[in-house]
Amino acid sequence: MAQEDITVDVLVVGTGASGMATAVTAASQGLKVLVVEKEARYGGTTARSGGWLWIPGTRLATEQGIVEPDGAAKAYLRHETTTHFDEKRVDAFLEYGPKAIDFFTRNTCVQFDMPAVFPDYHAEATGGQPGGRSMVTRPFNGHELGKRIKQLAPPLPELTVFGMMLGSGPEIKHFMRAFKSPTSFVYVAKRLTKHFFDVLGNGRGMMLTNGNALAGRLAKAGMDLDIPVWLSSPVKNLIVEFDGVAGAVVQREGKTIRVLAKRGVVLACGGFPHDIERRKQLFPHAPTGKEHYSPSPESNTGDGLRLAESVGGRVDPTIPHAAAWVPTSVTTRKDGSKGVMPHFIDRAKPGVISVTAKGKRFTNEGNSYHDFVQAMVKACEGEPEVSAWLLCDHKVLRNYGLGCVAPAPLPIGRHLRSGYLKRGATVGELAREIGIDPATLEATVAEFNAAAKTGQDPAFGKGSKAYNRYQGDALVTPNPCVAPLESGPYYAIKLVVGDIGTFAGLVTDEKTRVLDSTGRPIKGLHAVGNDAASVMGGNYPGAGITLGPALTFGYVAAMQLAQVDVAAEVSLKVERREPVAVSRSA
Ligand SMILES: Cc1cc2nc3c(=O)[nH]c(=O)nc-3n(C[C@H](O)[C@H](O)[C@H](O)COP(=O)(O)OP(=O)(O)OC[C@H]3O[C@@H](n4cnc5c(N)ncnc54)[C@H](O)[C@@H]3O)c2cc1C
Repeated sequence: MAQEDITVDVLVVGTGASGMATAVTAASQGLKVLVVEKEARYGGTTARSGGWLWIPGTRLATEQGIVEPDGAAKAYLRHETTTHFDEKRVDAFLEYGPKAIDFFTRNTCVQFDMPAVFPDYHAEATGGQPGGRSMVTRPFNGHELGKRIKQLAPPLPELTVFGMMLGSGPEIKHFMRAFKSPTSFVYVAKRLTKHFFDVLGNGRGMMLTNGNALAGRLAKAGMDLDIPVWLSSPVKNLIVEFDGVAGAVVQREGKTIRVLAKRGVVLACGGFPHDIERRKQLFPHAPTGKEHYSPSPESNTGDGLRLAESVGGRVDPTIPHAAAWVPTSVTTRKDGSKGVMPHFIDRAKPGVISVTAKGKRFTNEGNSYHDFVQAMVKACEGEPEVSAWLLCDHKVLRNYGLGCVAPAPLPIGRHLRSGYLKRGATVGELAREIGIDPATLEATVAEFNAAAKTGQDPAFGKGSKAYNRYQGDALVTPNPCVAPLESGPYYAIKLVVGDIGTFAGLVTDEKTRVLDSTGRPIKGLHAVGNDAASVMGGNYPGAGITLGPALTFGYVAAMQLAQVDVAAEVSLKVERREPVAVSRSA
C-alpha cells in the first residue's frame, strides 16, 4: 500500500464541536491545521445535539442584565462535582469559557442566543442560578455552506418533525400550540412551507437549528480559514518519536498517510458511547455492555481513548458516573432500522408519570435526564432489567406528544402498530398490556391523581424545582408539571438507559495536555471534548455542560499549541490559510 507523508502544525482528530473549535482557533492564530474525520459526514454527536452551551459569566449574560454573584459558579461546580472537583480545570473553564465565547462571536460566524431564563438543573443548590449560563446556537442558513451542506451530518431523526429539527423553546411552543393560537398556526405554516421547498430544492432542510447549526457554523468558520477537512479518514495509530507524539497514521482513500504534527495532535473523537468493552467495564447497569442505548453516532467507538492509552495516557475509571445518562426509548424507523429517542422534556409535562416494572413511581419525573436515570437504576436494583414506563392519558398524549409520538394532529397509528406505544382503555387494561400488576398500577395512578387535582405531588415533589417548572407547561396552574391522568385511553412507552455522551475520559490538565500514569504531560498530545474526562466530575449541572467545555477547552488547546497567552484578548491573525500540500515519501 502506498504511503504518503505530510507535515502540519496541528492535527485535529474529529469534527465535533471540540475538534472544530480547536481547529478554528489554531488556524486563526496562523497555524497550519488539518482535521481528519472517520465518518463520510462531519459534525459527530454535535450535529445531533441540542446545541446548548453552559458557560457562566459570558458577555451574552451581561447583555441580558444577568451578573453572577462573585464566586457563585465555582461554588456551584464545587457542589456538583463532589469527589471529582478538579480546581485547576474548573478555574480554567470558568476563566476561558467567556473568552472562548468572545473569540468565536467576535471573529467568526459561530453565534449564540442567551435566554434570560433557563435554570441550572440544580438551581436551588449552592451557587445555582435561574438563568444566564445556558445559551443556544443561533439558527444558521445552510446555504452558507455551499456544496459542503451535503457533507453535514443530519439531525437525529427521532428529534425531527418531517425531517426538521425544531429550534429552541419558543419554536417548540409554537408547534405545540399550532391549533390553539392563530399566531402559532401562522408561524408553523410558514416554517413548514419553507422547509418543504428546501427539501424539494436541496434534499434537506436548510434552516439549521440547534446542534446542526453549531456543527454548520463551526464548519463555515473552518471554511473561512481554508482549514482542510478529510472525511472518511480515520486515525489508526499515533506516531511516537523521541520524547512524545509526533503525528498520526491516517487512512484515506485506500492510502496510509503519515501526518506529522509539529505542534501536536488533538484527540477529539467524542468519547466511547459505542465501545461495548468500555461500557461493560464502566456502566454498572450494563454488565455485558449491551444493556445500554446511545443516540450518539455509532462511529464514536472510543478510538481517542485507545490511541492515548497506547502511548501512556490513562482513563480515570473512578468518576461517579461514566456518562451523561438519559432515559431513552427504542423505536423502529420507517426504513426498518432502530432509532434511539432521548426523553429530555416530555417527562416534566403535567399528566406524565413514570413507574417501574412493578407499577410504582420512583422519582420526580421533571428532574434532569441524568438524575432521572440514577433514580431509575436505583429503583431497579436486583431486577433482571433496568427499565421503566412513561405513562399519560389521551389528552396529554395529543397535547404534548410523548417520546417519538408527536402531538395532534399527527397520527399515532404507526407507533401503536410497531408496539412502541402501548394503549389500554383503562389503567388496568394498560397495566395488563405492559405486564404490570393491574391493581398496583391502578393504586399508583389513583394516589397520584388524588393530590394532582390540586397541583400537588407529595410523594416526589414534581414541579417543586425551577428546572421542573421550566420544562412543564406554564399555562397549567398551580403546578405546570402536575395534572391528573383521567381521560382514557391511557398510554405507555418503555424507557431504558442511554447516554448523550460519555464523561469518563482521558486524564488531562488545565491546558488540555494528556497526562501519563505519573501525572506528567505526554508531549505533543492533547484531548478535548468527550475524549477528556469531564470537568463536571460525572454530574450534570445544567443545559450545555458538555458543549460548553468542548468549545472552551478546544479554544484552550489551540492557544497552547499556538503558544499564545490564553488569558489575552485574541482575534484572528490570518484571513485565509494555504491548502495543505501532500508529498509522497514512499
Ligand atoms: C440528542 C442529543 C442532544 C444533545 N444535546 C446537547 C446539548 O444541547 N448540549 C450539550 O452540551 N451536549 C449535548 N449533547 C451531548 C453532546 O452532543 C456531546 O457531548 C458533544 O457533541 C461531544 O462533542 P465532541 O466534540 O467531543 O464529539 P463529537 O461531536 O461526537 O465528534 C467526534 C467526532 O470524532 C470522529 N471520530 C471518532 N473516531 C475517529 C477516528 N479514529 N479518526 C477520525 N475521527 C474520529 C467521530 O466520527 C465524530 O464525528 C447531546 C447529545 C445528543 C445525542
